[in-house]
Amino acid sequence: MTYQPVKPSHNPKLYCRAPFRKQSEAKQSWERLPLASLAAVVIMVIQGSSVFVFDRKQRATSNRNTSAWIRNLAKHIDKDVLPNLPGHFGTEYIQGTVHENEDGGSRRVDHQMLYEIAKVLGISEDEPPQPTHQNIKLPMPLMPVVYECPQCHEALRRPRGNTYHAWVIEPSSAYRAPVFLGECPHCRGVIFPDRFGQDLGGDGQEDVYDRDAPVISIGRGRYASRKLAQMLSACVATAHLPLSTFATCWNLSGQFSDENGDPLKLTHKHMW
Ligand SMILES: [Zn+2]
Repeated sequence: MTYQPVKPSHNPKLYCRAPFRKQSEAKQSWERLPLASLAAVVIMVIQGSSVFVFDRKQRATSNRNTSAWIRNLAKHIDKDVLPNLPGHFGTEYIQGTVHENEDGGSRRVDHQMLYEIAKVLGISEDEPPQPTHQNIKLPMPLMPVVYECPQCHEALRRPRGNTYHAWVIEPSSAYRAPVFLGECPHCRGVIFPDRFGQDLGGDGQEDVYDRDAPVISIGRGRYASRKLAQMLSACVATAHLPLSTFATCWNLSGQFSDENGDPLKLTHKHMW
């Protein structure tokens, strides 16, 4: 996903920075960052925790306080990540850099700031087993696949009752998320994250699947991400891998526990 560049706005309020702490009260350099920028940097530092291991290992061989590992990471965040935050959050960061140093301190992300944030987060002592990215999962609810009822074009409402949760199975991971179903107030049709029921006029209902849905239902309380589905069809259709072998492979690839603490398993029954 790419964000549209932000056009300068005439509303001066949009340029108001909301830092973690005012310059005069800030104890740490990063407290002067706007909140959205700070949130993004924290996520970057957690995901990039392995960079801090490379940094520590290199610094152990020299007498330097910093290394290019962290300086380059800071440059990337400052140049590419924060200015491209959506809405006015990117502008907010860029604006801060224009008035840099007027009060004696930089408002741009630099390597010192990253070291300080890593220390607060306890990242510097942490060593991930592999120098790959540490991915943070912020699981979003699964949404109805369309905004309006495809038949009546009515706005959808959330049906009464408890929200149910489902497992979303990815190629190498799984997470549990609430499923937000949508209900049409007119025809009472229910819209799922991957399909909606089409009224056949007296002949009951037929499920219409959306080919662009990001997830696909694979059984009760289970959705497969589109990525997994693509991998599956490539393995089964192209490489002639039996479905049961694929399921075994996935089950062996990770240790996931379901809501009862039992191991989460895929069976070929889940996969059509
Ligand atoms: Zn409807």
